Amino acid sequence: MSLALYRKYRPSIFADVIGQEHVTTPLSNALSSGSTHHAYLFSGPRGCGKTSSARIMARSLNCEKGPTPNPCGQCQSCKDLVANGPGSLDVIELDAATHGLVDDARDLRDKAFFAPVQSKYKIYIIDEAHQLGPGAANALLKVVEEPPPHVIFIFATTEPEKLISTIRSRTHHYPFRLVPPGILTTHLEKICASEGAVVAKGVLPLVVRASGGSVRDALSILGQLLAGAGPDGVSYEIALQLLGFTDGALLDDAIDAIAARDGATLFKTVDRVIESGHDPRRFTSDLLERLRDLMIVDALAETNANSILRDLPDDQLERMRNQSQHIGSANLSRAADIAAEGLTQMRGATAPRLILELICGRILLPGGDTSESGLLSRIERLERAENLAPMGNAQTSAKQSPTPNVGDFKESLPKSPSKAEEIAPKKVVAEETKKTPVKASAGMDVAGLRRVWPDVIEDVKKRRRLTWSLLSASAQVLGLDDSAITIGIVNAGARDSFIRSESDVILRQAFVDVVGIDRKIEVVVDASINPNTPQARE
Ligand SMILES: [Zn+2]
Repeated sequence: MSLALYRKYRPSIFADVIGQEHVTTPLSNALSSGSTHHAYLFSGPRGCGKTSSARIMARSLNCEKGPTPNPCGQCQSCKDLVANGPGSLDVIELDAATHGLVDDARDLRDKAFFAPVQSKYKIYIIDEAHQLGPGAANALLKVVEEPPPHVIFIFATTEPEKLISTIRSRTHHYPFRLVPPGILTTHLEKICASEGAVVAKGVLPLVVRASGGSVRDALSILGQLLAGAGPDGVSYEIALQLLGFTDGALLDDAIDAIAARDGATLFKTVDRVIESGHDPRRFTSDLLERLRDLMIVDALAETNANSILRDLPDDQLERMRNQSQHIGSANLSRAADIAAEGLTQMRGATAPRLILELICGRILLPGGDTSESGLLSRIERLERAENLAPMGNAQTSAKQSPTPNVGDFKESLPKSPSKAEEIAPKKVVAEETKKTPVKASAGMDVAGLRRVWPDVIEDVKKRRRLTWSLLSASAQVLGLDDSAITIGIVNAGARDSFIRSESDVILRQAFVDVVGIDRKIEVVVDASINPNTPQARE
């Protein structure tokens, strides 16, 4: 594999750009109808096809048969501008990140008026355009304001709001987006097939998640995995070794563990953070940021949180919606306070790991906290019929499954009267919950299962809507051992419908499909899932 996958599979026509139809379709239409503009702005996160699309635009404009969305591929310009081709004298790429482009911009201003050498248009592709210095931007502005008819500008940037407005207002703006996981997975599957690569189940979802929706990142991760593959291809274990330690995966594991009140996994995750060489301060600040995002998701549960949390892929948003429901508003706010406070303590601290572990311990256990936010968290947990595990327990026991101690606490703590009726029935529910043993099974543990849970749910959705609706947002993975996968479901009613409808067969098959693990499915009632959210309510 001499050529990096991202370069090897770089598209040369708009039809091959994946996941950006909202941009490529109108651009193709403009090319077909000949209604092209003299300045374009392609914005969006890194690695989702802006620069590739700018080159395709140039190729489509300068084809002898163009402008056309289907460049002929035969003419000199098409051959020069094909992906990984030699390039054309009339398509000039400038990177504003290098040195603000002051000299280049003046040069450009002087040369732009000369006719193109051999094509219809002289096309300037200006990458990282937000980094244009003020001098360069002003020099360019003159040309962008009154361009010669043969000049076309394509600005590409991750931060369109930083591009000076006088230039921005003269462009047609096309926002690129992160690629949705389903589309990206299909794309990776095709590439694996054409590379003749064998990839174990569960690997591609890991790659897609680690990439955060960036095609370039996904292909570079996949390339690395394929390069290190053994004779049997890429195994899940190898992929996990490489990808289980990315910032995003560790953060998700930590939040999943907080949501499940799973102290063992949380402290194991901290261990992985340190072992893999991450800076505990950086991790804490990422954790704080994620808690903030979760608070936003929680507050906007009914509407689309993506209006505020831009650029989050749908699967990540869905995962965060789930996490915020499990953790609850008061707990989220308190956890954020603790993380923020810990972050301050970390400045100049000699043992940041220790502080990170203390933060985790305090987030898990509002029991010893007599502050107002601590009390609120305790009430919130009581309302969810959760027990408050003692400190030592959280660090050592394998899993804090909700146990029926509610009665002991119920009388002794304040509770909001409006919620009183809700507590009583749930006490019964909690008693049905049983301890779930957690044992790591080959290559996959509870954290691993939680990681792929959204993919499993997606798979279930394809198989049977009923099962999906019983699980989506109202269930979580509680345990995994050699004989069974244990799933917690929000209430007895949902659990009974799950069993009655033989949904366990569906779910079992989904696990086999997504991660290749075949286990009996056991369901228990898990009252820690927020019953106040509409999805969870029956
Ligand atoms: Zn052509």
